[in-house]
Amino acid sequence: MGNRKNLSAETINAQALHQIDAMTGGITPAIHPSSTFLRDENYQLINARHSYGRDENPGYVVAERVLAELEGAPAALLFSSGMAAAMAVVQSLRPGDHIVAPKVMYWGLRNWLIKFCDRWGLGLDLFDSADPDGLANTIKKAKTKLVWIETPCNPTWDVIDIAAASEIAHSVGACLAVDSTVPTPVLTQPIKHGADIVIHSATKYLNGHCDIIAGAVVTAKQDELWESICEIRCQAGAVLGSFEAWLLQRGMRTLFLRVRKASESALALAKYFEGHANVKAVIYPGLASHPGHQIAKRQMDGGFGGMLSIQVKGGAQHALNVVKRCKVFARATSLGGVESLIEHRYTIEGERSPIPKDWLRLSIGIEFVDDLIADLEQALD
Ligand SMILES: *Cc1c(COP(=O)(O)O)cnc(C)c1O
Repeated sequence: MGNRKNLSAETINAQALHQIDAMTGGITPAIHPSSTFLRDENYQLINARHSYGRDENPGYVVAERVLAELEGAPAALLFSSGMAAAMAVVQSLRPGDHIVAPKVMYWGLRNWLIKFCDRWGLGLDLFDSADPDGLANTIKKAKTKLVWIETPCNPTWDVIDIAAASEIAHSVGACLAVDSTVPTPVLTQPIKHGADIVIHSATKYLNGHCDIIAGAVVTAKQDELWESICEIRCQAGAVLGSFEAWLLQRGMRTLFLRVRKASESALALAKYFEGHANVKAVIYPGLASHPGHQIAKRQMDGGFGGMLSIQVKGGAQHALNVVKRCKVFARATSLGGVESLIEHRYTIEGERSPIPKDWLRLSIGIEFVDDLIADLEQALD
C-alpha cells in the first residue's frame, strides 16, 4: 500500500491499519466465530497462532493493533468488559501486595476492589484525588505494587497529573495503571506521560455506539506483567465474542470525529450553563473554574472530553425533576456513545455514594449542540 510510515494516528485509526482481508480482498476484516482451528495430516496447526478460541480470536487483531498504535504501545489486549480488563491487572498481584487508588473513580470498580482486595489478601488504600499530595501521602514504600488512577475521574472530573503520579509510583517500585476510558487516546496518551498500563472500558468511547460491552489493556512493555495479563485473559476466560470484536473495530474507525465533536459540544454546553440562574456549578475540566484545569491543559491534547457534571439549585428533588423533563438527553447510565445521556449518579450509586444528591452527570454525544442546550434549558426551568 505504498509508504505507510509517518501516518497520523487519525489516518491509521480511520483505515484500521489498512488490514485487507487476505481471503477476499475485502477492505473490512472478516468475523471469525470458529472456536477451534484445524491441524494438518502431520498434526501441525494450519496457522500456528490459532489453536482454540479462548487463546486468541483472529478477529481481535485489528482493534488490538489499532489501539496499541493510538496509545504508543507495543501491543493491546481486548477483554470481555472494562471490568474484566481491570481485574486482569489486579489479579496479576500477589497476596500481601498493596494497591493505591482514588476515592472517586469508576464506582463499580472501586466497590469491587474493596471486596476483592479483602478476599484475596491484597492491601488497599484510597487517596483523595482532589488533594495534590493525596497519592504521595498514601503510597507505601516496599509494599505498594500498583497505583491505580483515573483521569479525568468519574464524576468529579478531578484531573490527576499522570507524569507526577508515575514518578511517585516508580519511586517505590510500583506500576502506574491509568483508566483512560474518559479521555481516550484521542485526548491523552498515558504511556507518553510515564504510565505502565492503560485500561479502557471499550464499551464507552472506543466503541461509541452503546451496543457492546468490551474492555482493553495496553502496557508500555511486553514484560512479565504483560505475560501474566495475557495468561489471565486466556486461562480465566474473559474473552470478547467475535461479533463484539468486529463491532468494536468498526466503532473505533470514527473515534476521532466522535471524541472531538463531543468535547467541543461539552465545552460549549459547560460555558453556556456556568452561571445559569438555576445552576449552582458546572464541573468540567475545560472550564477555567475547574481545579484541574491547568493540569488538563497540559495533559490533554485537543479537548477536555465529553463528560461533565452539573450541580443544580433546588436540591435532590429538583435534580430528579430536571432529569424527568429531559426530552433529547436519554435517561440512562453509561457514557461515550453517539447519543447524549443524563443521569442522577446518587440514585445509581446508592446510600454510600460520595456524590452529592443535586449532581447530574452528562455524557455528551454527537447531536447538534443547540438541541442539547435547549433541552437542558427547558428542563432546568
Ligand atoms: C464503564 C467503565 C468501566 C467498566 O467498564 P465495563 O465495560 O462496564 O465493564 C471502568 N472504568 C470506567 C471509567 C468506566 O466508565
